[in-house]
Amino acid sequence: VISSANSLRPVQKAHDLLLAGADPLDAVVEGVKIQELDPTDMSVGYGGLPNADGVVQLDASCMHGPMKRAGAVGALEGIKTAAEVAKLVLKYTTHIMLVGEGAKRFALSYGFKEEDLLTDASRQAWLEWRATLSPRDNWIDVPARTPMVVHPPTGTINCNAVTPTGDIASVTTTAGLAWKIPGRVGDSPIIGAGQYCDNEVGASGSTGLGELNIMVCGAFLTVDG
Ligand code: ASP
Repeated sequence: VISSANSLRPVQKAHDLLLAGADPLDAVVEGVKIQELDPTDMSVGYGGLPNADGVVQLDASCMHGPMKRAGAVGALEGIKTAAEVAKLVLKYTTHIMLVGEGAKRFALSYGFKEEDLLTDASRQAWLEWRATLSPRDNWIDVPARTPMVVHPPTGTINCNAVTPTGDIASVTTTAGLAWKIPGRVGDSPIIGAGQYCDNEVGASGSTGLGELNIMVCGAFLTVDG
């Protein structure tokens, strides 16, 4: 199992599941779910930093090497575990990507609960960003409590796994760039950019400024380029 630096617990979880015989996609999705549900991780899922309107919009995608299938969600609101929803798109539909309201309704149809994804900390960070955005706005400046307020912090989890028999899967999940323009979708849910998996070759995924990665199809380029 290999992952971005912010996911030691997901790697451990996915590794344990693989050794217990789990499917590689189930293993990585269960792994990243730990961070998605962790309110202190401000890069993904619950507690992820919101967009400019103060709304958390999540992106995620995944691929299953043996099945040669992919699933993704973009700008998903109100559901904590975007990677799980992406896996359901892969498993139960002939589509690859669902976005926005449709993605949320799809998740609700599988029993996911709609919840407020803002935590006190992520709301506070957003309020500070809004208050200090411009010296000419009508919000009274407040001292920033965190260094992250003005410059959009990045953060995403990509996790890839190979089973002892050589089957591969990949997943990427994120809250995207903090303070993004509402509706902005980054690289994470784009197959071939946010992650890519070829069972004969390997898997790859990305974190960082999604706009740059989308233009070079970075994950595909790394695996099959
Ligand atoms: N790649 C993500 C995006 O552009 C952000 C990140 O990795 O921090 O949405």
